[in-house]
Amino acid sequence: MKLYSLDNNPDYESLSNNPYIGEIEESAATYEIIRTIKGDFVIGVLDEKNDCAGAHEIKELNLEIGKEEIYKHNITCPCCGYEDRDSWECEDSNDEYECGQCGATIEYERIVTVEYSSELVKLPSIINAELKDKEVREN
Ligand SMILES: [Zn+2]
Repeated sequence: MKLYSLDNNPDYESLSNNPYIGEIEESAATYEIIRTIKGDFVIGVLDEKNDCAGAHEIKELNLEIGKEEIYKHNITCPCCGYEDRDSWECEDSNDEYECGQCGATIEYERIVTVEYSSELVKLPSIINAELKDKEVREN
């Protein structure tokens, strides 16, 4: 199976127009992680007719169960690092969430922080005064 990169403005219609990664003997399925000498990849698109697939490179693959990715703006997969930019559509927490890139099951919890914005509506009392620099004393 030939692998093509989906990492920079990929052509999903014709996978062979994307940068060629190489060929593997195995036939992989969508979401499967391929570990090669060139790095780790996850299959994003399959073209079984032409025996090729589009894959995303995983910069830092983590295979440690229980490792937490904490305090990111979006749900981020601790395994492949994929960031779900539609996290706002998700429930407040979920322990059966499936990564949209590698298919790993992850657990997340939404942490809500409170911020305040303020706007001037009415000015405080202001006195424009002339300041005399010599003290006048009354006897
Ligand atoms: Zn993932």
